[in-house]
Amino acid sequence: MNVVYIAIGAVLLLWIAFNLHRRRKNRNKIICVVASSCTGCRRCVKRCQRHVLEVVEDEAGKHAAVKHPDKCTACGDCLGKCKFGALKLIERA
Ligand code: SF4
Ligand code: SF4
Repeated sequence: MNVVYIAIGAVLLLWIAFNLHRRRKNRNKIICVVASSCTGCRRCVKRCQRHVLEVVEDEAGKHAAVKHPDKCTACGDCLGKCKFGALKLIERA
């Protein structure tokens, strides 16, 4: 039984270390939407727990937009939800 607890603890520690490393690496980055590739499906909007993204409609059509850039931690969670390659992390200006 102890082996199971040790294994679970090790996995948890690795997960925490991986996330800390990812955050540190992306500290100066921000999410960016390629409007021409975006279908406005909202998958990324629903995934972002910090409410950075919203879907808007303008001359480029319906697409996601970065509405609250100051809140983006560049965690990358939304990237995995986009099936159209419409999201990317870029350096903050
Ligand atoms: S990178 Fe993270 S914080 Fe930024 S928009 Fe995507 S899910 Fe939200
Ligand atoms: S998941 Fe991709 S295609 Fe869907 S709204 Fe977000 S950026 Fe656009």
